[in-house]
Amino acid sequence: MPAEPANLMEAIVSLAKRRGFIYPSSEIYGGLNGFFDYGPLGAELKKKIRDCWWNDMVRRRDDIVGLESSIIMHPDVWKASGHVAGFTDPLVDCKVSKQRYRADQLFFAPVVVAGKIIGYVSALESDNIAADLQTAAETLKRKKAVQGTLAPVQSRDMTEAKPEEIPLIPSPATGEPGSLTAPRAFNMMFQTNVGALSDASSVAYLRPETAQGMFVDFKNVVDTTRVKLPFGIAQIGKSFRNEITPRNFIFRSREFEQMEMEYFIHEDADWAKCHEEWIAWCEAWLRSIGLPDSHLSRHAHPKEKLAFYSKGTVDIMFKYPFGVQELWGIAARGNYDLTQHANASGKPQEMFDEATKKKFVPHVIEPAVGVDRIMLAVLCAGYAEEDVPDEKGNVEKRTVLRLSPRIAPVKVAVLPLIKNKEQLVGRAKDLYVKLKRKYAVNYDDGGAIGKRYRRQDEAGTPWCVTIDFETIEKPGDTFTLRERDSMKQRRITETELFALLEEQVY
Ligand code: ATP
Repeated sequence: MPAEPANLMEAIVSLAKRRGFIYPSSEIYGGLNGFFDYGPLGAELKKKIRDCWWNDMVRRRDDIVGLESSIIMHPDVWKASGHVAGFTDPLVDCKVSKQRYRADQLFFAPVVVAGKIIGYVSALESDNIAADLQTAAETLKRKKAVQGTLAPVQSRDMTEAKPEEIPLIPSPATGEPGSLTAPRAFNMMFQTNVGALSDASSVAYLRPETAQGMFVDFKNVVDTTRVKLPFGIAQIGKSFRNEITPRNFIFRSREFEQMEMEYFIHEDADWAKCHEEWIAWCEAWLRSIGLPDSHLSRHAHPKEKLAFYSKGTVDIMFKYPFGVQELWGIAARGNYDLTQHANASGKPQEMFDEATKKKFVPHVIEPAVGVDRIMLAVLCAGYAEEDVPDEKGNVEKRTVLRLSPRIAPVKVAVLPLIKNKEQLVGRAKDLYVKLKRKYAVNYDDGGAIGKRYRRQDEAGTPWCVTIDFETIEKPGDTFTLRERDSMKQRRITETELFALLEEQVY
């Protein structure tokens, strides 16, 4: 493994480009910040993540149904949900460099020497903000040639800066104070216009989350299906946020994909128990697609930071190379959303309780996760560089993506040992065609067999099947099965191969 986390990110970005997982969007025009394209392997990997989630969340459960709502919804949806007024991040401008920062990701500290403030230092969010600020403070002390003991820095973010401090805090872009503005609320929704007129009456928004679709269609689903509480509505789809600082590759982008589910429960149900069950379900699901426990943790939002209607939010965090960050948020939202839409639309969003003969508005638990963030997590957890012996016993480097068979973009590669032996090629093609009906398979007859294994290792293919002389010359019709992680080889029949896939790819 590369020693430094920064190198690991670099290695992943480079592999992603080189092997066709992820490209910058519109690259021939210089790219567009915060947007990405998914190449052949990336598109397949994303699809596998979506398919696993949909199968486990919707198809294999009796209490959850699927939905696909439109990306552009009536603008009143976003007024009722609170997004028009409140879906904002605090923005700080640097008037000199024209750079923009998220105030809660820009940190500063007064530099105190011998009990006196000699100036301020600032740093952008990193793995070790305190150390970055301390180093900057030492530099400032040296530059100003002030004698005395430097106090340990006390960092705050820009949302906590007092008005009189703002002109004294240096901009990270210029290193000089005086150019940063006070934080102001910046709405992250992308606006567009619907129809030929482009005036205030035609303003609409690209959805910043898929969740509102489930709330707005709640009555439709209740009236047209046979769902009974508790039940969920799940959706996968694109969301758009005009993030102030898109960064960390596909971790925070402006166009991304969400997999969200609204689980409706009775107003008197034990929401805390249900919340905990969903957190555990999400953790187990992440493990099932290959994320190791060692990289997962929980973060419970402190009560004072919750929205007034929220009963509790727990994030499942993942240890990315750039720090421990939110992967999946599981929120207990009470009945806020349905109530807001009932009030704004004038259409009650209630269910009838047969036992009490009373109507009530269901409460909801919402697990919300980003497909792109999961994809980055599996790439980070699966990437490895190893020294391995080649066929002649010489040590060579191999790059391997240890992706779970569930999500690997290619499940099996079919490799005829040589490409000019008709019988070998015929058997390989026959197997390839059979496998293709059910699985994503690769056929590769180009180059030395060792090279072909390496190519598949980099793509995360769990198994290679080599059709060799033993296949055609000896009884049993067996192939060489080569495993990606152990690099071990054994002989396997076609029936056994299909059984292995059936068991591991679900
Ligand atoms: P963050 O605090 O990181 O901005 P959030 O709390 O605003 O995220 P939610 O609104 O809870 O995120 O969205 C649910 C999920 O959608 C997140 O857990 C994340 O996986 C994904 N997500 C949110 N914003 C982005 C983005 N800009 N790029 C990629 N994925 C995102």
